[in-house]
Amino acid sequence: MKKELIEYWQKSGLVKDKQLIEAFKKTSRENFIRKENRDEVYGDYPLPIGFGQTISQPTTVMLMIEALELKKTDKVLEVGAGSGWCAAIMSRLAKKIITTEIIPGLVEFAKNNIKKCDIKNVEIVKWDGSQGYEKEAPYDKVMLTAACPSLPKPCIEQLKENGIIIGPVGSLFGQDMIKGIKVKGILETENLGSFMFVPLKGKYGY
Ligand code: SAM
Repeated sequence: MKKELIEYWQKSGLVKDKQLIEAFKKTSRENFIRKENRDEVYGDYPLPIGFGQTISQPTTVMLMIEALELKKTDKVLEVGAGSGWCAAIMSRLAKKIITTEIIPGLVEFAKNNIKKCDIKNVEIVKWDGSQGYEKEAPYDKVMLTAACPSLPKPCIEQLKENGIIIGPVGSLFGQDMIKGIKVKGILETENLGSFMFVPLKGKYGY
């Protein structure tokens, strides 16, 4: 249940940002899943969205967004739009979200889902986001929502000074969530724990 998830985050201290909780409340996950998964909409686990891909686990999405320390002035690049849900939550906390998706069917899925919400600052692009998205660079924040062999070089290059990048890095069978802050052109990284994501495709993917 939605209420129980929120209570869990608040009691455990896993999610501290009140504005992020408000953004979650406003962004119904119901609009981003397939009808057949309606009964499980607020289960704290990933759900299938077709094409062998998933909408990520709510707690994971919240941890990743919180780690990005979003500001209302931020331009954000997301690699892996999937259902569009994560981009929709971020859109409430940032200025503009550019989200890339490599599977055409999911580009359509995400666009239709976003249309169901009153959101105007999310742009969904059919693109190999492992190469970043030069056209809109530089970015204040970059989020990768698929498992990467390493944080893709173009995504780091397209990040502003003092910008934050986050993504799961490791093998296909398990990854560490790496948060990097660009300081004087060099990425200072921190490991936020173990996770399991679908693989990043494309030039800098697997
Ligand atoms: N953020 C999504 C959401 O809120 O539903 C979940 C993302 S899902 C875990 C990972 C997504 O990354 C998949 O939709 C997959 O097709 C996409 N993907 C994988 N490699 C990609 C690439 N190189 N460029 C863009 N999207 C990619």
